[in-house]
Amino acid sequence: MCKTESPWGSAAPAAPACSLAEVMSEQLAKQLDEENAVFPALSDPAAELLPDEAPDTTSDLMLAQMLQMQFDREFDDQLRREEKKFNGDSKVSISFENYRMVHPYDDSDSSGDEVDWQDTRHDPYRADKPQTTPRKGFTGKGKNITTKHDEVTCGRKNTARMDNFAPEVHVGDGLGMDLKLSNQVFNSLKRHCYSEQRRSARLHEKKEHSTAEQAVDPRTRLLMYKMVNAGVLENINGCISTGKESVVFHADGGSLEEQPVPDEVVLKVFKTTLNEFKNRDRYIKDDYRFKDRFSKLNPRKIIRLWAEKEMHNLGRMKKAEIPCPEVVLLKKHILVMSFIGKDHVPAPKLKDAMLNSEDLKNAYYQVLHVMQQLYQECNLVHADLSEYNMLWHEGKVWLIDVSQSVEPTHPHGLEFLFRDCRNVSTFFQKRGVSEAMSTYDLFNAVTGLNIPVGAEDEAEFMAEIVALEKRNEDHIQKRGKKTFPVTSEDGGPPLEPDADD
Ligand code: ADP
Ligand code: MG
Repeated sequence: MCKTESPWGSAAPAAPACSLAEVMSEQLAKQLDEENAVFPALSDPAAELLPDEAPDTTSDLMLAQMLQMQFDREFDDQLRREEKKFNGDSKVSISFENYRMVHPYDDSDSSGDEVDWQDTRHDPYRADKPQTTPRKGFTGKGKNITTKHDEVTCGRKNTARMDNFAPEVHVGDGLGMDLKLSNQVFNSLKRHCYSEQRRSARLHEKKEHSTAEQAVDPRTRLLMYKMVNAGVLENINGCISTGKESVVFHADGGSLEEQPVPDEVVLKVFKTTLNEFKNRDRYIKDDYRFKDRFSKLNPRKIIRLWAEKEMHNLGRMKKAEIPCPEVVLLKKHILVMSFIGKDHVPAPKLKDAMLNSEDLKNAYYQVLHVMQQLYQECNLVHADLSEYNMLWHEGKVWLIDVSQSVEPTHPHGLEFLFRDCRNVSTFFQKRGVSEAMSTYDLFNAVTGLNIPVGAEDEAEFMAEIVALEKRNEDHIQKRGKKTFPVTSEDGGPPLEPDADD
């Protein structure tokens, strides 16, 4: 046992003669002490050395417990010293926690909290280690032989094995009880746990997908963090828009080799949820620039193609000096481009901009000019042009959202253009711009074609357009040449090397 001073001190010296008042006060102190805590001296190391304040030591059981406690504490102290010595300054440390006698280890002079008293060598919630059967396969002798197949031993073993179930499986107090689970029960419990685990994994997966619907999926998030890590972006601030096909974030630009990154940029994240893009196949499938690649790609890569398409189209527009976002970087399905707006406030869409009639007229002529430039200089048809995809910023109309834009020689290019013209004419006419041309006149003004505008019969006009497209298609088939002017260079920065491809 321990050789140090015992907790209750050495034999008390003969009591010195004292006054009645002193005796009374001593008794009162003792009484108070007893009321306050059952064994205050034991939880307070300092008190252990003061024989005067030692607690009641009349019971043998209590004496034994106190002795044991003192012994355990010393053991823990020693363990702590060894732990310290072993770990030194190492960043990775080993804990001897599990070998401690008194739990939780407490070297502060805490109150006489009951938990401090608990000797947790016998954790009531922890099963005793199952008895192992020796190699020979049985224990005991003669009549008392117990084999490893013994029902009771097996049952207890099975109960203890529940401890190995996944943490989220609640086994309750079962482990602490003397439960004997038959193999059959144990096996079906185990099967249930596995299937539950798989189910929760599936649920988790679904959750990941649903966040992808609202914002971005974990893969995209990682790509975005990488951009911040690489210093291309300083910070990603927040979402500007969540559309059907893309999510647009505002970010502070950082720096990119050879290229200054604007102070404010947007990240257009093309959604990796594929459903929405199915409808748009026809924009890209028949675009000769992407035709060959389209057929060979899986859906995830097709989405990257959208981002790539937007980048190339913006590149062409920039060359023609059409007001549009400037491409900074393309990384898989994330396109980083300059921000149209100021101080985190995006420029309003034409639909939302509060324009006076003068500005509206001005905007109309800008749109007309931009459409002509797009068609004649960039060899492009926007294909989704409307007051939703034009921003009003610093007195100018800015074109955005050009991932679906195609060349006029696209088999449906002129139809798309006609639709654009209708959106533009309708918007400006509704807003009272008297100068706004009819859809047909606008179409002719943009293309330079002279499709006769009869009785404003849309069917007739459309038939004419479709016939034109057909003639052009035949022409391409025969001669491999395009009737409409086509520029070979797309412009835009080079594609990022793609690790996955
Ligand atoms: P979607 O295909 O989802 O319509 P858009 O390119 O039209 O994608 O972007 C959606 C919205 O995000 C736009 O209406 C606009 O408000 C905002 N936005 C997109 N690009 C920019 C940009 N470069 N600067 C400022 N706002 C932008
Ligand atoms: Mg849009």
